[in-house]
Amino acid sequence: MGTFIDGRGNFKEIELKQDLLQDHWTLAAANRRRLDRFGVKMIEFMGSVGTGKTSLIQQLVHRLKNDYSITVINGDLATTIDQERILACGVDALQINTGKECHLDAATLKGVLERLDLEQTDLILVENVGNLICPVDFPLGAHRRLLVISVTEGPYVALKHPTVFMEMEYVAVNKIDLAPVMDVDLTALVRDIMAIRPATRVFPVSCKEQKGIGELAAALVPVQ
Ligand code: MG
Ligand code: ZN
Repeated sequence: MGTFIDGRGNFKEIELKQDLLQDHWTLAAANRRRLDRFGVKMIEFMGSVGTGKTSLIQQLVHRLKNDYSITVINGDLATTIDQERILACGVDALQINTGKECHLDAATLKGVLERLDLEQTDLILVENVGNLICPVDFPLGAHRRLLVISVTEGPYVALKHPTVFMEMEYVAVNKIDLAPVMDVDLTALVRDIMAIRPATRVFPVSCKEQKGIGELAAALVPVQ
């Protein structure tokens, strides 16, 4: 059920399409078992369009590729732009074009994992479709999930999406170099995130100025 609110403040309950979320959890658990069998760790990157998910993955790849055999999976509605950006970093990258689907799902990931040489892989970085809202409800089987937000989303991004932030173990706040221009109080933004889930680990970063990347990389890997 959802709530519809009209211009005069009237509420109305509306039916929302029910997904078979249980199936997604079952498939995600199977993906995780497959990864664990080969000792492969998978980290998922979520966040809105334009928050810098691909840029952050590029930065992490540069720092980690000498120590880990990395494959990146890029989810997007269309184009191979992200894949090309990752390939340019010198690691393997696969593009999933979802067409109209606004998130990746465990069944799609299963098909991709079956095609990868997991024996030769240490780390898989998955970039979900640019979307802040629904990917969180569709687990893929990743060992870690990171939400990438950006100060360009404004000061209220956490307050407006509490259910998403409630699930997040790691949050990267990107483009902190733009915080003064965007009039975003970084301290207040971090406080809002921590208020929703006190155990969340928040990493202010700037891919452009390469700030905070080392700290984030050290927190994400090695995956225990
Ligand atoms: Mg991207
Ligand atoms: Zn979706």
